[in-house]
Amino acid sequence: MSIGYASIYLENEKCVGCTRCMQRCPTEAIRIRDGKATILRERCVDCGECIRVCPRHAMKARVDTLSEALGKYKYTIALPAQALYGQFPGVRTRAPILEGLLRIGFDSVFEVAAAAEVMSAVTHYELNYGSIPHPIITTDCPVILRIVRIRFPSLLPHLLNYRSPMEVAARWSKRLAMKETGLSEEDIGCVYISPCPAKCAGAKAALGTARPAITGVVSIAEVAPRLTAVMGDIDDHERYAQAGAAGVSWAISGGQSSAAGEPNHLAASGIENIIGILEALEDGKLSHVDLIELNACYPGCVGGALAVENPFIAKARLQQMMRDFAPPLPPSDCPREDMRWEKTPTASSALRLDKDVSVAMEKMEQIRRITESLPGIDCGACGSPKCRAFAEDIVAGRAEAGMCLFSDKNDKDK
Ligand code: SF4
Ligand code: SF4
Repeated sequence: MSIGYASIYLENEKCVGCTRCMQRCPTEAIRIRDGKATILRERCVDCGECIRVCPRHAMKARVDTLSEALGKYKYTIALPAQALYGQFPGVRTRAPILEGLLRIGFDSVFEVAAAAEVMSAVTHYELNYGSIPHPIITTDCPVILRIVRIRFPSLLPHLLNYRSPMEVAARWSKRLAMKETGLSEEDIGCVYISPCPAKCAGAKAALGTARPAITGVVSIAEVAPRLTAVMGDIDDHERYAQAGAAGVSWAISGGQSSAAGEPNHLAASGIENIIGILEALEDGKLSHVDLIELNACYPGCVGGALAVENPFIAKARLQQMMRDFAPPLPPSDCPREDMRWEKTPTASSALRLDKDVSVAMEKMEQIRRITESLPGIDCGACGSPKCRAFAEDIVAGRAEAGMCLFSDKNDKDK
């Protein structure tokens, strides 16, 4: 099964084939061929590491522009990610940010944090009365879903099988807007303001959701300067705020666990760390934990590749902001009946060598033999990230043995 919509793409003409993205990619999804990076789409988890390290800004996330997102519907709702609030120097409340979204063209604004607050209560309920085996793994970060499907399919039953707060916020806000405006669902757009490529992909092709309610995704990187230009004279009165600290704290690693009131939790962020945690869980070393909260970005969504502020400054700003929050929106209107996934994500075949087990075994043996014949220095000069990955590429027909500059065979040929 394909891993679905992917957000990352390459602007070919900017790439100089420096290999930095290939060396950094946690799923070995990048190769260098003919002097340019190329993405093995089925392996990409949209973590955004390649965007962060590319010195030429050649790796991009597929997002809508603000004008595209605003022009399609009679009424458009802004769904700001919690990370947006930490992006602005000197801004101490959400008020100018939320009101600023109206000034740049949205008809109304609905905080994703309000849905996160309800999802915190749902997580608490599931932990105490639900049937998901512990430890439960959080699924707000779409990278986690993808990595589990590709590399850790045995952990699929541990996933918290609820929609993400951004999708719940879209459904909730659309329902309220239909009541207020009398418009039909088709006339209302919901635009998520995203801190990262994974949530762009997650919003448009939400795993576990047949028909996402989000109609567009724009990046914090595009929205932040537009907001800065219009919000200078807006006061700090929180007219449009709906969420309390529990929902906003989801932008910081550990926030979801605290909001769910689960003391026996483990929160980890950063792609290498989460892979380490999933390996430990698969090895049975974390059975004493009840909730595992994972975020691919460090230190949580504030560190997303499409955010603009230093993640630690953004985190401190959010923490400061949350001290003065008013009580949250009463969650009674939230459409709780359709919070669970409609479809259960299944294992991905991205790393499968062949459908036929005996052919797969034969290929595995070929890979082993070729790997042993290679120098094992993982230099990347062949255009594959490691010697083992190069051997896999040869067997998959993506590379030829002669592409290794340092193998014995090439020495003998000289
Ligand atoms: S980091 Fe990757 S995409 Fe960027 S220039 Fe180097 S090879 Fe090309
Ligand atoms: S987004 Fe992450 S997984 Fe995808 S190609 Fe870039 S570094 Fe690799």
